[in-house]
Amino acid sequence: MTRLEIMEDTMEKYGVNELRKMFLDFFESKDHLKMKSFSLVPHNDKSLLLINSGMAPLKPYFTGQEIPPRRRVTTCQKCIRTGDIENIGKTARHGTFFEMLGNFSFGDYFKTEAIHWSWEFLTEVVGLDADRLYPSIYLDDDEAFDIWNKEIGIAPERIFRFGKEDNFWEHGSGPCGPCSEIYYDRGEKYGCGKPTCTVGCDCDRYMEIWNNVFSQFDNDGKGNYSELKQKNIDTGMGLERLASVVQDVDSIFDVDTIFDLRSRVCELASVEYEKDYKTDVSIRIITDHIRSATFMISDGIMPSNEGRGYVLRRLIRRAARHGRLLGIEGTFLAKLSQTVIDGSKDGYPELEEKKDMILTVLTEEENKFNKTIDQGINILNDMQAEMEKSGEKILSGDKAFKLYDTYGFPIDLTKEILEEKGYSIDEDGFNQAMKVQKDNARNRRAKTNYMGADATVYEQIDTSLTTEFVGYDSLTAKSSITALTTETELTQAIAEGDKGTIIVSETPFYGTMGGQEGDKGVITAGDSVFEVKDTIHLLGGKVGHIGLVTKGMFKLGDEVMLSVDKSNRLATCKNHSATHLLQKALRQVVGTHVEQAGSFVDKDHLRFDFTPFKALTQEEIEKIESIVNEKIAENLIVDTQIMTIDEARKTGAMALFNEKYGEKVRVVSMGDFSKEFCGGTHVSNTGDIRLFKIISESGVAAGVRRIDALTGDGVIRYYNNLENTLKEAAKAVKSDSSNLLDRINGILDEVKSLKSENESLKSKLANNSLGDVASEFKEVSGFNFLAKEIESVDMNGLRNLSDDLKTKKECCVIVLASTDGGKVNLIVVADDTAVKNGAHAGNIIKAIAPLVGGGGGGRPNMAQAGGKNPAGIKDALEKAATLL
Ligand code: ATP
Ligand code: MG
Repeated sequence: MTRLEIMEDTMEKYGVNELRKMFLDFFESKDHLKMKSFSLVPHNDKSLLLINSGMAPLKPYFTGQEIPPRRRVTTCQKCIRTGDIENIGKTARHGTFFEMLGNFSFGDYFKTEAIHWSWEFLTEVVGLDADRLYPSIYLDDDEAFDIWNKEIGIAPERIFRFGKEDNFWEHGSGPCGPCSEIYYDRGEKYGCGKPTCTVGCDCDRYMEIWNNVFSQFDNDGKGNYSELKQKNIDTGMGLERLASVVQDVDSIFDVDTIFDLRSRVCELASVEYEKDYKTDVSIRIITDHIRSATFMISDGIMPSNEGRGYVLRRLIRRAARHGRLLGIEGTFLAKLSQTVIDGSKDGYPELEEKKDMILTVLTEEENKFNKTIDQGINILNDMQAEMEKSGEKILSGDKAFKLYDTYGFPIDLTKEILEEKGYSIDEDGFNQAMKVQKDNARNRRAKTNYMGADATVYEQIDTSLTTEFVGYDSLTAKSSITALTTETELTQAIAEGDKGTIIVSETPFYGTMGGQEGDKGVITAGDSVFEVKDTIHLLGGKVGHIGLVTKGMFKLGDEVMLSVDKSNRLATCKNHSATHLLQKALRQVVGTHVEQAGSFVDKDHLRFDFTPFKALTQEEIEKIESIVNEKIAENLIVDTQIMTIDEARKTGAMALFNEKYGEKVRVVSMGDFSKEFCGGTHVSNTGDIRLFKIISESGVAAGVRRIDALTGDGVIRYYNNLENTLKEAAKAVKSDSSNLLDRINGILDEVKSLKSENESLKSKLANNSLGDVASEFKEVSGFNFLAKEIESVDMNGLRNLSDDLKTKKECCVIVLASTDGGKVNLIVVADDTAVKNGAHAGNIIKAIAPLVGGGGGGRPNMAQAGGKNPAGIKDALEKAATLL
């Protein structure tokens, strides 16, 4: 039975999916615009790794940087909070992944409505018992107190006043304000039993379910607060927490959708829930982490060693690790992910769309992790053996960190394995090594700036200014300058020799976006000329033309003529259109689990990153190339249409990961072959692309492959270059292109026969001298001893020679040296009788190798060494005699 079926058996309760809908519908009935959850990947926000609240993706609307589509908005936002990771499985109310319900006002309604509606929703729509609900307010927020007390009718002693830490929302300078939370009393059985236990206690009895933030002040950063002109409402309520209260269950792990997932974990591990605390924690950790991982991958995040990718890797590995602890054998995460997808695909259709990809990524990463564990255990065994030898009891922090950082071996696992054998880890040392690495990473991050330009210049521009793009059908336009900057500040005018940025109201210049490089060209006003080197998008829907005044001057308000460089644009269009054909061909050849992971097109080439995890075979590459060229030859009409995002999805058009789409989207189709969401510029007919050629296919990052390709004239230039190289190569070997291969094979044969001739001459030479050399044995300490330098023989030659010499005398020790391209070769051999009588070739070499600047060792009957100092050979040979 699923959780919902069990619930229906007993009483009428709402499921997670139902509650989500009830909330959004309720606020829609209060004139809010329902918006889809934004991606977990923040858009244009470097301050945040992952979206962690409903308000995070709406920040530009709160700060006024962007105009919201409506002043009242409601969302159910996917959130990740890795800061809570240590709580997972241990508290009833924390997940690293959860959904946050929110209603937002951008300078529209304020405290009164926000409080009334939250109360109305909880008590009337959901039907929670009002006697179990307790509001909290900020210390001196009497306005909120009065609303709760006088308007809603809550008795004063039931309204709790909390200080800054709990009930004042603030993040450095900028908008901030008091909060009012709503707590639900889940009953004594969840309490800690202390006499002081009441609202605000850390235990699980009084659970915070809703937080209303009234952002009404501006903090100037020095602690001075002024009232904001535009007051905002930002609320957040955890959907899972609400469900746990409504369904009257112990924790968020017992609500219907998560219960089904949790049961699946138990089933795969053949364990029972609520039998053993430690087992339960592992079950809950797996249940939580697989939700995070599934949603993160569906938003285009790939496991890696940095940033978001690292968070994902850590969650997947932690889940896999707890799976091992529960005794699950083989990979299991993809099976669980399937349950997540089934449970949430109604609210999040991207889960179903990206299913193939999600499951493949999980399995790949899990396999990798299993290998890592096996490898790590081997390395740890070696470390442990060393410790045993030296009698150490504590593994150094550096070693533990190396295991963790280089081999990806989890530190808790290191600890556990060592502890079982009576060892421990220098945890301070480990933390120190970790800190050094984190600081380095942070420094690297801090250095990146905004869209390649100094952000602060553009932040000074009037936020209400916008630029309309008119360049799909025309490469020229007249407009007027609405803002101007130098490289460092806003300005009224720029003159010959100045670098700067021009902003106009209408432009035919395409700004870098969606992997397409921005246009180049010129802006003129009378005789004045501004050369546009790059075109970029600025926050708030503006386009910046970055470049240099080469003649005259430009002032604010000037009427200007904008002309895009035509050949640059057309070549870029060919590459962009080819990218669409390539994406489709790739999916046809490799499979629909292939996902675009990024692309870049400019006038010279196109680059397409994708995630199939495996290198393409030469055969696949050729197949893809020929499909694309076929579609070019078919002269397919390229058509663009603007439609609503829902209509567009219905047409089956491919959308991109991580892209924040507006209400209306542009769909580019090429005949019936390809259909993609795309704002870029394209050829009007695929025939315009003329030719397509893949230049390389290679790996660029964990799991990501890259195709570099050319189109049109680029392909012709490529073949011309190849032809020239071929001609020159032919000339160098005195042949012509058509006979080049025969000629090269001929040369290779010749080289081969010369080599073998050389070898046999060398050994003949050595053999000839063998007789002479053999006469040089001397008697030393009862051994037949021979030490000699042989000219121009390599180690192989020495070995052969010493083997032959060994047969000439009984009880012999032979030391041979040679120089070979500046390097020294040394060999010592002793026959069986000599070894029996105490000779040891290894010891001899150990003692004499340092004299030729080398080191070595070996067995009693044979040892060899290399060195760098030919001048020491004489001494080495003399010393050998003294060692017998
Ligand atoms: P807590 O103190 O319980 O961690 P919080 O103060 O961090 O909560 P907020 O930042 O105010 O929570 O987030 C708003 C709402 O989001 C909370 O009222 C709660 O319902 C929900 N929430 C916060 N963190 C989590 C989490 N880790 N898992 C599930 N829901 C959460
Ligand atoms: Mg918290």
